[in-house]
Amino acid sequence: MIAAADIGGHTLTVGTAENGAVLRKRTVATPPERTPRAVCAAVRAILEGLGVPAETPLALGVPGFVLDGERVSGCPNLNGWEGVTADELSDLCGHAVTLANDCDLFALGEMSAGAAKDLDDFVFITLGTGVGGSVIVNRRLVRGAHGRTGEIGHFALLDDRSCGCGGRGHLESFFSANAFERAAKKFHMEPDMPALWERRENAWLARPFAEGTRALACVLTSLTCLLDPQAIVIGGGLSHLDGLCDDLRDYMFPLLPRAYRPGPELRLAQLETDAPLLGAEELLTGKNRPHGR
Ligand SMILES: [Zn+2]
Repeated sequence: MIAAADIGGHTLTVGTAENGAVLRKRTVATPPERTPRAVCAAVRAILEGLGVPAETPLALGVPGFVLDGERVSGCPNLNGWEGVTADELSDLCGHAVTLANDCDLFALGEMSAGAAKDLDDFVFITLGTGVGGSVIVNRRLVRGAHGRTGEIGHFALLDDRSCGCGGRGHLESFFSANAFERAAKKFHMEPDMPALWERRENAWLARPFAEGTRALACVLTSLTCLLDPQAIVIGGGLSHLDGLCDDLRDYMFPLLPRAYRPGPELRLAQLETDAPLLGAEELLTGKNRPHGR
């Protein structure tokens, strides 16, 4: 049995999995401090509540840059996570922690039992508070020189607006719950995403939504040319926005080189909060174990 926690900007899911099945899980609101201490205390309390023995290995999926599975090197949507190590988190959680990028856990989970079960080569993206990405080639997670492959939320576009990561002009500043909520506040509208999306033809909202969707389509077009994936699998809270895949296909078509049209299949993820738990089991026990561990 393994334990896993998916730490989102808004929600925290903690649970256990064994032999490709989720055993138990709980989803709660992320502690508002969003610090390692507060989040790990919540993880620990849930694991204790579920009766999970302390010797059970724990994968922590964090929404940020994870260096070689050992250290968080940046986490724009949480507080105080930069530089924190797996050892420090192990002490706080009371379990031996393996660090992972949250999107990588979702990708591995969807590959083991969900929307990507039949795929060998795909890109997985999560659209939520921020934008995550993972690259799977030949059913293996591509890690890169430092374990940070696939951070598509930080793909640079021709723009100068600042991103939470310290860079500029990144996809996340155009297409993410954070970006849309900022736009809504500017127009004194409630930041309720599905309601805003339904009103995306509204004169005020049309620009940020069209701009955001086009920015995402630009990035997906570039990824298609770089990786030639069978499909792009889309998860995260914003993936459920009605008609998003159709809008993306429409924007991508003229951007794609003719030889690539109509482009890779765009698929929605299927497993919701089960995905990171099943992905964590793949990571801790399967062929996608980090190198050397
Ligand atoms: Zn960025």
